[in-house]
Amino acid sequence: MIRLSGIEKQFANQLVLKGVGLKLEAGTVTALIGPSGSGKSTLLRCVNLLERPDAGQLVLEESELDFAHGISRAQVLALRQQTGMVFQSFQLFPHMTVLENVTEGLVTVLKWPKERALTRGRELLDKVGLSHKADSVPATLSGGQQQRVAIARALAPSPKVLLCDEPTSALDPELALEVVAVLRQLAREGTTMLIATHDLRLAAQIAQQVIFLEAGEVVEEGSAHQMFTAPRRARTLAYISTLT
Ligand code: ADP
Ligand code: MG
Repeated sequence: MIRLSGIEKQFANQLVLKGVGLKLEAGTVTALIGPSGSGKSTLLRCVNLLERPDAGQLVLEESELDFAHGISRAQVLALRQQTGMVFQSFQLFPHMTVLENVTEGLVTVLKWPKERALTRGRELLDKVGLSHKADSVPATLSGGQQQRVAIARALAPSPKVLLCDEPTSALDPELALEVVAVLRQLAREGTTMLIATHDLRLAAQIAQQVIFLEAGEVVEEGSAHQMFTAPRRARTLAYISTLT
C-alpha cells in the first residue's frame, strides 16, 4: 500500500540514506529499529516530505512520486495530508488548548467547518482517553498525556499511515506504557503505522514487520517473530542483544 524504493538522502557531504526500500501493507505495523544516527528519523521525514529525498520513488496508493524528477508543491501537500507524524518531543502548540491542538490543522489547512472539526477533535480525544483535558493547555499535562494528544492530532485528518518517531523515548517507563497502550489499540483497529523506536518491547508488542537500518541501509527485514528470535544476519543479532 506504501512502497519506497531507492530512497537516497544526502546532507552536506554525508550520504544518510543509501537507497532504502520498504513496503508497508495496509493495516499493519512496521517497526524501524537501528542505532542512533542510522537514518531512522530522516527516513520517516522522507515519507511525509519534511525532507525531500534526492532520489528514489514513493508510491502511496494511487499517487506515485519520483524524486529524481522533482515533485510539485501540490504533490507535497497531498502526501502530507495522507501521512500523520508523531514526534519524540510531542511538538504541541503551547498556547492552544488540547482540543485546539487537535483541530487546528483541520480548520486552517483542510478548511473544515469549525463545528465539524470540533466534533472530530472530541471523538479523537475520547479515543486517546483525554476528553477531560480538552480545555487544558499542554503544559498542564504529563508527557504521556501530551504524546496522546499528539497522536490524536496526527490522526485527525484520517491519514493513510501514522509515522511515529521514537514516540516513547522522551517518557518515563510508566508514562511510556500509556502511550504504548494507545498505539496497541490503534494497531488492533488496523491503523497502518511505521514506528521508529529503540524500544524493542514496543516493537515486539505491536509490529508485524521489523526493519533494521544501519548507516543508511536496510541490513535485514522480516516478521517481528523472525527478527527477534532468529535474525539471519549476525549484525542484527548483535544489535538486538545490546537492547535486551
Ligand atoms: P536516527 O534517527 O536513526 O538517529 P537520523 O536520521 O536522525 O538518525 O540521522 C542520520 C544522520 O543524518 C546523522 O548522522 C545525522 O547527524 C544526520 N542528519 C540528520 N538530519 C540532518 C540535517 N538536517 N542536516 C545535517 N545532517 C543531518
Ligand atoms: Mg531519530
